[in-house]
Amino acid sequence: MNILIKHQLYKSKNTMQATVLSIAGSDPTGGAGIQADLKTMTAIGVYGAAAITCVTVQNSHGVAGIECLAPDLVRRQIQIVLDDHFVTHIKIGMVGSLAIADAIRSALETFQGEVIYDPVMLATTGQPLMEGDLNELFDLLVPQCTVLTPNIPELAYMAKAAVTTQQDAVDRAGKLLDKHSKLRAVLVKGGHAIQDEAIVDALVYRSGDTVQTTSIPHPRIQTLNAHGTGCTLASAFASFHCLEGNDIRAFQQSVEHVQTLLKNSASITIVKNPEGRGGMLHYTYRP
Ligand code: PLP
Repeated sequence: MNILIKHQLYKSKNTMQATVLSIAGSDPTGGAGIQADLKTMTAIGVYGAAAITCVTVQNSHGVAGIECLAPDLVRRQIQIVLDDHFVTHIKIGMVGSLAIADAIRSALETFQGEVIYDPVMLATTGQPLMEGDLNELFDLLVPQCTVLTPNIPELAYMAKAAVTTQQDAVDRAGKLLDKHSKLRAVLVKGGHAIQDEAIVDALVYRSGDTVQTTSIPHPRIQTLNAHGTGCTLASAFASFHCLEGNDIRAFQQSVEHVQTLLKNSASITIVKNPEGRGGMLHYTYRP
């Protein structure tokens, strides 16, 4: 039974509910991390659960501290939700350490559903959110993933090759699909591209034996309130995929979702720091 059918079954019987589980770090400002994930899931209309990897101490001035949880505590949080809920989709964000990555890997060993991984390397303010070798981190987690949502620097890191053009991005994403048999799609976020005017987000995905690409070009929205866009996009993808089971639709809907939130939040002062990046107003989304 595939995940979509299971989801429909839960809905139609009206007694069982699909759960989307976020495995991520805590951001006390509510803009990114587990807080943004749960807001996104609730706004879109899916049941969100959360297993915390690390607690960060941060605001728009920077990251003042990170405390990673004991790896076994992370593993047990995941396991206890999987044991009790109908988890169809898992979204992974900030992992924090290689030992936590290994704990996640072991907790997901027998998980059959969707694993959407946002391979977060840096905080919005530029500080690293991961201790240990990133290559080892990706080697531990990517083989279990069905969808990745890297930005351009993360994609370049994962593919171990520079990404300077849109074609580079598509080629590097294709390389990841070739390497990892479980991986079905790579959603490349174009926001870090040098061209200032337009952004191109792309979904590079398997279609039979070939790799296809669908792209969404959109203007860059001028706003400081862009903290947590990556977390929100990946959670939105997981949520829309949970509702409809379709990669291309989930891509289109999640890109549109973030665009809507960026627009809705652009004119609002969210943080006291005049140069600081605020989070987005997740509550403004109405399906
Ligand atoms: N997870 C946590 C806990 C964070 O603090 C951040 C950024 O600061 C991220 C993930 C990534 O944020 P973004 O969605 O802006 O890439």
